Amino acid sequence: MKRILITGGAGFIGSHLCKRLVEENNDVICLDNFFTGSKDNIRELIGLKNFELVRHDITKEYFAEVDQIYNLACPASPPHYQYNPIKTIKTSILGTMNMLGAAKRCKATILQASTSEVYGDPKVHPQTEDYWGNVNPIGIRSCYDEGKRCAETLMMDYHRQNNVDIRIIRIFNTYGPNMAENDGRVVSNFILQALKNEDITIYGDGTQTRSFCYVDDLVDGMIRMMNNPQKFIGPVNLGNPNERSILDFAKLIIEMTGSKSQIIYRPLPQDDPVQRKPDISLAKKELNWEPYTDIKTGLEKTIEYFKTKI
Ligand code: NAD
Ligand code: UDP
Repeated sequence: MKRILITGGAGFIGSHLCKRLVEENNDVICLDNFFTGSKDNIRELIGLKNFELVRHDITKEYFAEVDQIYNLACPASPPHYQYNPIKTIKTSILGTMNMLGAAKRCKATILQASTSEVYGDPKVHPQTEDYWGNVNPIGIRSCYDEGKRCAETLMMDYHRQNNVDIRIIRIFNTYGPNMAENDGRVVSNFILQALKNEDITIYGDGTQTRSFCYVDDLVDGMIRMMNNPQKFIGPVNLGNPNERSILDFAKLIIEMTGSKSQIIYRPLPQDDPVQRKPDISLAKKELNWEPYTDIKTGLEKTIEYFKTKI
């Protein structure tokens, strides 16, 4: 039985990770400040003897004896991370330092949930891990992008200087049940708009692309990365390379929900990346991992989830 700390465990991805690791009989501490997460996401785990819920903010130190740390705490959707940008960057920098300090003290392995946003508006397509990115350091996405880039730097420096056992994953757009209804990301927005027969809001002309990964596939990759026997530290891309335009995605949601919604166009937010698609050759080679859920199967489960919310 491993003792595992999951920061941001009551959030979208964290809640799936908590569930899986509890089912696999680990002793799980879920730590969250409930900024964007919710107790509802982990309600079925509360009361189980190998699950513990802690309300805490990772910008402050936290002490617990653990073997592994998954550091997921950080708001992930643009409206949420732009709501209080100073807090967002503090969470990535002070929070990651606190968790690295904890990993160092306990000799735990720490996995950092980094992001495709470290590539910014990428000029290399698809994105490979050796690409250094094209990030605006002073824009409205910078609190998130630069915070996550600095967190990667901290991970590498604690590894080189203090021998901390680290793993860095770069997560690409992920979707599934437990996404917050109000989080403003494209998957939740489009599904909710379609289910309510409201206008579907495309930002820009809809030619920008994203590649969507179902959450179960991602969680599988995260656990493989944490426990890989070669101690491969990454960074490694985890995502689904199946790329599509936002306009095509809107049409797919309308078709799958049988909605009467019309598509409308809104201004494109500043620094919105034009294209995004992971190259996952490294994950295949080092972790023998690739996503297996096709978009329709994943979206069916996600649509069913959102139906229960309206
Ligand atoms: P989410 O907003 O649902 O979850 C984040 C969780 O962290 C929430 O429960 C929130 O309350 C908690 N949190 C935020 N700040 C905190 C703090 N200071 N102290 C303690 N808890 C705090 O987002 P998510 O989609 O589940 O993302 C999880 C992680 O994965 C994030 O680090 C995010 O940057 C990363 N990521 C996600 C995606 C994606 O597509 N979902 C893509 C790239 C990276
Ligand atoms: N988007 C959109 N309509 C929405 C929400 C998002 O057209 O209601 C677009 C957004 O501008 C971006 C893409 O969908 O180009 C993905 O946005 P999201 O916020 O989900 O994640 P990002 O990948 O930009 O962090």
